[in-house]
Amino acid sequence: MNFWTAFTLLACFLFVPDLTQAQQSAEDAVERPRRIYLDEFRPQQSLTVEEHLLTRARFPCVNVHTHPRKLSDEELAEMVQTMDDANIAVSVSLDGQAGPRFPDHYQRLHQKYPGRFVVFVRMDYIGEGREDDPSTWDVNKPGYGLKMADWLTEAVRQGASGLKLLKDLGLYVRDANGKLLRPDDPRFDPVWARAAELKVPVLWHCADPIAFFRPTDERNERWEELYRHPEWSFYGKDFPSHQELIDARNRVIARHPQTTFISAHMADIPEDLHKLGSYLDTWPNMNVEIAARVSELGRQPYTARKFFLKYSDRILFGTDGVPPMSELIPHFRFLETWDESFPYEDNPFPPQGLWNIYGLGLPDEVLKKVYYQNAERLIPGVRVSVTADK
Ligand SMILES: [Zn+2]
Repeated sequence: MNFWTAFTLLACFLFVPDLTQAQQSAEDAVERPRRIYLDEFRPQQSLTVEEHLLTRARFPCVNVHTHPRKLSDEELAEMVQTMDDANIAVSVSLDGQAGPRFPDHYQRLHQKYPGRFVVFVRMDYIGEGREDDPSTWDVNKPGYGLKMADWLTEAVRQGASGLKLLKDLGLYVRDANGKLLRPDDPRFDPVWARAAELKVPVLWHCADPIAFFRPTDERNERWEELYRHPEWSFYGKDFPSHQELIDARNRVIARHPQTTFISAHMADIPEDLHKLGSYLDTWPNMNVEIAARVSELGRQPYTARKFFLKYSDRILFGTDGVPPMSELIPHFRFLETWDESFPYEDNPFPPQGLWNIYGLGLPDEVLKKVYYQNAERLIPGVRVSVTADK
């Protein structure tokens, strides 16, 4: 070390404490803001950009993912009013029960609002069994698959348009020994085959967001959501991994090429559209719907837009739940506009992660397919009168 290097180092050493002291006293003179918790954080965006708060879809639209079963008469009337206002021609109720209870829900919707609803049915895994004892469940009795296939046939005869599967297959339904059943368990094969014979689609929610299968710690991008809903975490215990569930579902889709599958929530892998695209390339009988995944799609607008253009024949519109207008607006805005950095839900605390989304500005030809043409092609009973809207 020469003299000047040594001098410089020494000078730094001598002067730095003085500067730090000055900074410290300046900081001491200013009152520090209160430390806040993550769930108190409500940043107000300073950005000023164009906003298009669309309350009406550009084309008549089919909402393939709704849950109206528990609505009172007034609430159902309100739902239909919102459908009218928002240009939703048909809603698919995924709340039909296979078996003797099917006609109640179906008749209620059809008599009151003919043409505005179609109904999918769910399998009954438990039957007369005891909830806390899987060995008594119907799903563990011989001939279960055939029985459900026959129930599906009967429901379709009575007006059902498809079969709905909840995420419980893979995450809750257990065999007689209490082990979780895999979604590709062969006992269900007769059901998938029957759906093909009946020409009705299977709308399948398998797995959940990837973040729900990771530890709920400071690295989890949906920590605040899992903190509010710890029961939504599928990390640990005897749960399969996210990819294991996806792979098992895909094996069913591969094994039943004649059956039409609509994978709910962007096949529960919107986090990786490249991978999802490879699935769609491999299995032509697989389709997806966007319910409750606008948050995921809208944070990757460049990738999502390319995906929508490439797979426009395979994507259907859906929301989940019974969407009020405030929930429909971000959907229309996401699909139709070029709006930037806007909230994906009308909820003061972003429910699915702390980020905003961006519009895809989809062309009319793609919008028509996503809004109604794909649903008309894939779901029996769905008829949209396009002349009603230009
Ligand atoms: Zn749902």
